[in-house]
Amino acid sequence: MVGMLKFPKVGQEYPPKRSAEERVADFQEISRAFEEAEAKEQSSRCSQCGVPYCSTHCPLHNHIPDWLKLTAEGRLQEAYELSNATSTMPEICGRICPQDRLCEGNCVIEFSGHGAVTIGAVEKFITDTAWDEGWVEPLAPGRDRGQSIGIIGAGPAGLTVADLMRGLGYEVHVYDRYDRMGGLLTYGIPSFKLEKFVTQRRVDRLRAGGIVFHENFEVGRDATLDDLRARHDAVVIATGVYKPRALKAPGVGAAGVVEAIDYLKASSHKGFGDAVPAFDDGTLNAEGKNVVVVGGGDTAMDCVRTAIRQGAKSVRCLYRRDRANMPGSQREVKNAEDEGVEFVWLSAPQAFHGDDRVTGAQVTKMRLGEPDASGRRAPEVDAGTDYRLDADLVIKALGFDPEDLPNLFGAPELTVTRWGTVRVDHKTMMTSLDGVFAAGDIVRGASLVVWAIRDGRDLTERMHAWLKMKAASREKEAA
Ligand SMILES: Cc1cc2nc3c(=O)[nH]c(=O)nc-3n(C[C@H](O)[C@H](O)[C@H](O)COP(=O)(O)OP(=O)(O)OC[C@H]3O[C@@H](n4cnc5c(N)ncnc54)[C@H](O)[C@@H]3O)c2cc1C
Ligand code: SF4
Repeated sequence: MVGMLKFPKVGQEYPPKRSAEERVADFQEISRAFEEAEAKEQSSRCSQCGVPYCSTHCPLHNHIPDWLKLTAEGRLQEAYELSNATSTMPEICGRICPQDRLCEGNCVIEFSGHGAVTIGAVEKFITDTAWDEGWVEPLAPGRDRGQSIGIIGAGPAGLTVADLMRGLGYEVHVYDRYDRMGGLLTYGIPSFKLEKFVTQRRVDRLRAGGIVFHENFEVGRDATLDDLRARHDAVVIATGVYKPRALKAPGVGAAGVVEAIDYLKASSHKGFGDAVPAFDDGTLNAEGKNVVVVGGGDTAMDCVRTAIRQGAKSVRCLYRRDRANMPGSQREVKNAEDEGVEFVWLSAPQAFHGDDRVTGAQVTKMRLGEPDASGRRAPEVDAGTDYRLDADLVIKALGFDPEDLPNLFGAPELTVTRWGTVRVDHKTMMTSLDGVFAAGDIVRGASLVVWAIRDGRDLTERMHAWLKMKAASREKEAA
């Protein structure tokens, strides 16, 4: 019952005076009531069609129609338990999956032109409710197996393996070079899409379950891969991809031309209340500036929307292909446009102006030529169409490649593909090194959170089988 709506007692002042805290609580209660009504309404739109394309197009094969039915019936705890059975972080996927390309894009109601059931929003609602109601169980470690694993990287892939392996009774250590866990959930994806506390409470749950986190621990600097192999029965590489793709243009080295990951990371640190000198001195702060973001993927979308929130004077996004051929989510483009971002399609910077600080970009028009090896039409320069665009902050968001892990880890025998991603045997998920497994972006290349979770889930199954075999052969030898 919403406090504000209670009947007054005889002689009581009406409406009763409410403290600021009570008004906030009233507001939260009303918002939750609306969210619940919306979740039930949306869930009841599911036609239970019997051909759940939504589930087959969800990388986790979540039991979507079943938890929608339970939600529509108001059985929220059961709905949560079912959605939690296939995912280690449903409230995170509900917030940030590109649903238009996955579950919702394959809803039969969408096909019939009536708009998809908002599956992601329902998934977020039921899991957030589970946290609020105390239905999210603490992580209970299984019977101690006397074996330990080391995980390099605390992004969604590493955290998923940690969660599931601890549940199976292994001792789990996670090593990460950052000061907080979560990988790109913490230091990439902005808080207007994924609030920081949502990831941190997942990490807290894992810590409370006995997982040991080693913050500020960079493999390659603080230990070699061999050191970790000697310490643990098995090792997982889940380091993601962090080498920014280069932009080659005269003037690109000027101050004011920055990397997207540095810009987003500074903004996240600021959100945590950390001291960030490069933000405070304006280097990584868009306030009052003409901002140009180069790129058309999810990272570029996050940069433009962050710049708007920081109070930029103008925000333009240059992308060398057209709207239909951009890699980022169309939903994100629409959001950015609604917020005031200008998209300059079929455009690329040829050079940057300014002596020591950037003052503008020389931009040329592009056109789409013949399809390249990937089947996409390759952009070509439309000669003689260039013009100047004012800019005091240029953010390069052209995507990421893997770092040179064999070199970095002091492990030249670790095999990588020609793109630098770690090569695994897809049946075992093991790398070229015995007992060293890999998952997430470092295997797939830059991908999605939901795929990192799926990889973590698959890897757990394979690594558990391998470790059981190893323990059995040890016992046999000892007998
Ligand atoms: C700006 C941005 C926005 C995105 N938005 C979305 C989105 O909206 N939805 C979506 O689904 N996906 C999004 N993605 C993609 C998604 O974040 C990644 O696919 C996902 O995080 C990959 O998970 P991971 O666990 O493989 O790696 P990561 O999340 O990158 O985590 C890897 C971890 O390994 C650590 N590490 C790396 N090297 C070392 C080392 N040598 N020693 C110790 N630790 C190390 C890193 O510090 C990091 O914490 C976005 C990506 C970016 C860059
Ligand atoms: S995990 Fe992602 S794709 Fe799967 S149901 Fe949730 S929002 Fe949809």
